[in-house]
Amino acid sequence: IRIKSAEILGERGSLVGTVVVLEDITDLKKLEKMRSQFVANVSHELKTPLTSIKGFSETLKFVKDESTRNKFLDIINDESERLTRLINDILTLSSIEQVKSLKNEEIDISYESEKVYHLLNPKAEAKNITLSLTQKEPLFMLGDVDLYNQLLLNLVDNAIKYTRENGEVQIRIEREDTLIKVVVSDTGIGIPEKHLNRIFERFYRVDKARDRAMGGTGLGLAIVKHIVLSMGGTIEVSSEIGKGTQFVVYLPMYKESYDEE
Ligand code: ADP
Repeated sequence: IRIKSAEILGERGSLVGTVVVLEDITDLKKLEKMRSQFVANVSHELKTPLTSIKGFSETLKFVKDESTRNKFLDIINDESERLTRLINDILTLSSIEQVKSLKNEEIDISYESEKVYHLLNPKAEAKNITLSLTQKEPLFMLGDVDLYNQLLLNLVDNAIKYTRENGEVQIRIEREDTLIKVVVSDTGIGIPEKHLNRIFERFYRVDKARDRAMGGTGLGLAIVKHIVLSMGGTIEVSSEIGKGTQFVVYLPMYKESYDEE
């Protein structure tokens, strides 16, 4: 609790009374703590690839063997790509937080979802995963089209990433009353129950080493959650280890697209 007080003076400067304000700053403190935690995490996540890049590039000039040199160059390249992904994800997160910079236009959900499907299908095919998209009717909402694409991209990308070869990933889009329901389900490795309520946190990973090796930044689902909230929607997750995971997103439909019904 923070206490602020001020004296109230009368016409001739005499003391008439005192105002005391008691302010509950537990939320403020929490927010501050989360911010500094985030900065510490970002620094750590940025430093790790940088340390590798520096180490391997310094050593490179002393290495004569061609195949070792190539291995070092591959590591430097991979780590630079990780840095790029990290920086892009951090920029995306901060742009969503600046609500003013977001577009507010009509989004053709069916058209945009098909784009994401075509973008990620090659990645699924490379693992022999069947990716499918089902949607019956055209659906529209108001918002920032780039954010909708990013939201679906992150969910489907994760589904493919955390599903073994020959598995299945489904995207289902349907209308539920005045809501658009987007379901992304997979037959992948699943998420243990005790982690389920934490996976939307920044840099939270179920298995730190494994998930980092998958190339993820640990920011994908934090971005998804931010986007869903900024669009006035909700997100739910359910999962069974070894069976698969399902994310369900509800987004508000564009009112004018159902008003005429
Ligand atoms: P990352 O970049 O590591 O994938 P995310 O924020 O996208 O980070 O996801 C957080 C964690 O949640 C992942 O590290 C992974 O452990 C888990 N996860 C996310 N999606 C799935 C999924 N479809 N199946 C299994 N685990 C998942």
